[in-house]
Amino acid sequence: MRALGSCVLDPGASDDDRRARVIEAMPACTHLDQVLVTQLPDAVAGCEDCLLTGDPWLHLRICLQCGHVGCCDDSPNRHATTHSQASDHPIIRSLEPGEQWSWCYLDEVVMRIPEVRGETRIPPSPLGG
Ligand SMILES: [Zn+2]
Ligand SMILES: [Zn+2]
Ligand SMILES: [Zn+2]
Repeated sequence: MRALGSCVLDPGASDDDRRARVIEAMPACTHLDQVLVTQLPDAVAGCEDCLLTGDPWLHLRICLQCGHVGCCDDSPNRHATTHSQASDHPIIRSLEPGEQWSWCYLDEVVMRIPEVRGETRIPPSPLGG
């Protein structure tokens, strides 16, 4: 965690300096131009990779660059993270009912992306989560 207060306590800084430092102090995702999926699917069958192997998943995440549906880091196989690392796709969004957050693996920030619309029907987790 970087110190958030340093810019406020520097009376000698110009407004531009202060603004630049505020932006630097508040991490933001710089990969939103890689969000190509702005309409969520109506329904998915589950984690694509777990379905292939017959493995159970806990929570579902969708890749906002290509639409790959993978499972969360609390799932045994962590396919969403595996997919992001294997394909250099930085941003996922939760597909869990009522959850609208996205996560950038590179910036490690949680955010809401209002351009991404829709709600996806998902089956219950095989692990009961
Ligand atoms: Zn990012
Ligand atoms: Zn999976
Ligand atoms: Zn992807």
